[in-house]
Amino acid sequence: MALFVEIETPNLKYEQPLGLFINNEFVKGVEGRTFNTINPHNEQIIASVCEGTEKDIDIAVIAAREALNGPWRKLPSVDRGKLVLKLADLFERDVNVLANIEATDNGKTVAMAAFDVMGSAATLRYYGGWADKIFGQTIDIDENSHTYTRHEPIGVCGQIIPWNFPILMLAWKIGPALATGNTVVLKPAEQTPLSALYVAKLIVEAGFPPGVVNIVNGFGTVAGAAISSHMYIGCGSERALESRPKWEMLTLATADKVAFTGSTAVGREIMAAAAKSNLKKVTLELGGKSPNIVFPDANLDNALSWVNFGIYYNHGQACSAGSRILVHQDIYEEFLSRFRERAKLNKVGSPFAPDTFQGPQISKTQFDRIMRYIEEGKADGAKLETGGARLGDAGYYIQPTIFSNVDESMSIVREEIFGPVCTVQSFKDEDEAIRLANNSAYGLASAVHTMNANIATRVANRLQAGTVWINNYAMVHQQMPFGGYKQSGNGRELGAYALDNYTQVKTVRQYLGDAIF
Ligand code: NAD
Repeated sequence: MALFVEIETPNLKYEQPLGLFINNEFVKGVEGRTFNTINPHNEQIIASVCEGTEKDIDIAVIAAREALNGPWRKLPSVDRGKLVLKLADLFERDVNVLANIEATDNGKTVAMAAFDVMGSAATLRYYGGWADKIFGQTIDIDENSHTYTRHEPIGVCGQIIPWNFPILMLAWKIGPALATGNTVVLKPAEQTPLSALYVAKLIVEAGFPPGVVNIVNGFGTVAGAAISSHMYIGCGSERALESRPKWEMLTLATADKVAFTGSTAVGREIMAAAAKSNLKKVTLELGGKSPNIVFPDANLDNALSWVNFGIYYNHGQACSAGSRILVHQDIYEEFLSRFRERAKLNKVGSPFAPDTFQGPQISKTQFDRIMRYIEEGKADGAKLETGGARLGDAGYYIQPTIFSNVDESMSIVREEIFGPVCTVQSFKDEDEAIRLANNSAYGLASAVHTMNANIATRVANRLQAGTVWINNYAMVHQQMPFGGYKQSGNGRELGAYALDNYTQVKTVRQYLGDAIF
């Protein structure tokens, strides 16, 4: 098969790489397998890309280890930063192409995709700036000791990302990893393999040494599982290294890391695989069922806009989606009827139409899953306020959907639907709002809408969630840490906090006196 193909979107033509990206080259998989990626707008095949398997992961891991031990480790941190900054520039230069790829492969609108690309560039630039500002501490113990810490890279980092924000998740993952001196084997989601491969071209153009970033497309249970269960992620596996001397394997063996964004179910598997293999470090950014709380004194126009955006942006396919809307009983009826009208105004349609707000769901699997939840909600006795049906007969389009008359026993209230479906419940006071909000296995995000600063702060303090937005929703920023309480994951992405995910602390104590024992 060809390793490049020309793809035409409604706006432009570009050259799409199709291979695995290892050692700065596009190559076929060892087993020669390929898989199709589908346009969710029309259900047509866009392209067939190379599929990586365990053997390709091994090769990529060795490439990453050799880069780590070679040119990458030797590069002064300021020069490492310059490469990440250069990559940010290239994202901005090619924003149009990247946005068109995302719109075609993922189904998000070109405008939202461009927003993601610019956010990705901003993230890379933020971390590029950190590269030469990583430092440890000196610790004064006594006159005869010189004690200090170094924040060293963890090593080769496996990174497994989802399909809902393909390019943004790539930037969130590689930005802090590269800035802190790690090398990467990244596996994009099988539903959205294209933008990462275009980024691979930019990685070469930016001047990264071969092996620093490797991108292996493939399926979760094959390529993904090979990363999380890799015995020596960072040193190559026994399979690939069997021809090498034993001492070399031991020298290369370090406990490295896997970083994952996706479902809680797979997060559990990844943690178990890491534990069973070599206890590689694990950071997880998982699902959510985030509460969005509206108090009666909120600016209702603003609150309605944020509630609407909070659930329907990215077609409800966001881990932080505000899917449980909690409204004070005094404004419940008014809010619900205005929200119903507001949701109906959201334009659902082609990602390439300029007035579209909501595009198709990512895949037939996700479409069916969401429709199943809608049926379950109805069967459980919830009241369908609006939506609840497929839109059109081609593409994975679902109407913006609202349920009321729900309780916490229902799956539509408890489980992550990952589609344009939300529930609205009323509460009588602050305590009840908090009880309902925190009654979830998840704890990723939350929001509170009120003009009363005391209520806002009290509620923010009591919410069990990694992020609380006050009078806004989903205003994520590269400088702000993002991550989950409870089963929404561990570790924090973004901000200075993410640097901790990618560094390990070494303590050095030099003794200046004579032996004391
Ligand atoms: P998923 O968790 O299965 O996939 C995410 C990534 O993990 C993909 O790259 C996939 O190939 C990989 N993966 C899958 N199984 C793996 C395994 N055993 N070992 C290693 N990697 C593996 O998500 P999905 O099946 O595409 O979506 C299902 C549900 O997950 C969604 O409905 C949604 O609830 C949730 N989800 C959450 C997020 C998020 O950002 N939190 C993103 C995507 C999906």
